[in-house]
Amino acid sequence: MWTEKAQAKINLTLDALYKRPDGYHEVEMVMQTVDLSDHLTFTEREADEIALSCTAPYIPLDERNLVYQAAKLMKETFGVQKGIHIHIDKRIPVAAGLAGGSSDAAATLRGLNKVWNLGQSLDQLAELGAKIGSDVPFCMYGGTAVARGRGEKIERLPNTCPMWVVLVKPPIAVSTAEVYGRLRTDEIEKHPSTKAMVEALAKGDLRQICAEMGNVLEKVTFAMHPEVERLKSQLLKFGAPGAMMSGSGPTVFALVEREEKALRICNALRGFSREVYLCRFF
Ligand code: ATP
Repeated sequence: MWTEKAQAKINLTLDALYKRPDGYHEVEMVMQTVDLSDHLTFTEREADEIALSCTAPYIPLDERNLVYQAAKLMKETFGVQKGIHIHIDKRIPVAAGLAGGSSDAAATLRGLNKVWNLGQSLDQLAELGAKIGSDVPFCMYGGTAVARGRGEKIERLPNTCPMWVVLVKPPIAVSTAEVYGRLRTDEIEKHPSTKAMVEALAKGDLRQICAEMGNVLEKVTFAMHPEVERLKSQLLKFGAPGAMMSGSGPTVFALVEREEKALRICNALRGFSREVYLCRFF
């Protein structure tokens, strides 16, 4: 039996430059993992099959699950004729902009690499993971990184100072494909600066990090779901130095330097949302 943790991510910046001929947007994003994680447990099986179980009842357990796709890819790529049971203890909110599925897929590649003794490096696993989804390579490494291309080209950054993160998820699901489908890159008013964010992170200056945060998908998701924008305003009203939507939403987050202040904001938010999480950069 083997266990792997799959961390959630937030976007500190998310920029879309243009739509590519293959249908994806060329993006530039500064990403950060946080210590909110799913726990995956791998148990070998006699029968040559992939079996999944999950604590969240509404998650598909067949080919539609990214964990299943990752396990199948490992079996096919390395000719493994062994069975595996993977249990997903789901703690990351689903369809929330926190890359829960992609992180589970990355953890599956890491876990099966160990369980089946395949000897692959993280770089090799990240390259394989890009076949499953654009966010999987970042989730393979975690920490702080710039993602480019369709999100799969990763430039890792040194760890920055540990910040507190308050996450709030309104009770709606957002489809990433739909948000990108509605985005018009020629109408984007302000593009975030990757360079300025990287410099702010290197200094560990929270005010500067907050000033450089930017997500070009906010406008699209806010127009579809005004409650997401309202939650962001509430985070700022309760004293967060900076707040933003993660990915295509609907989760919004605030960065806070001191634990007591983060706890105060969490408690204030609990009056408005049932899904409030306190975590840290990881
Ligand atoms: P991203 O930020 O990468 O867009 P997300 O956090 O918005 O991802 P996920 O939680 O990964 O979204 O889930 C998106 C969809 O993927 C859900 O509708 C879910 O049914 C499906 N899915 C497939 N595998 C998983 C998994 N292991 N965990 C969660 N969702 C999964």
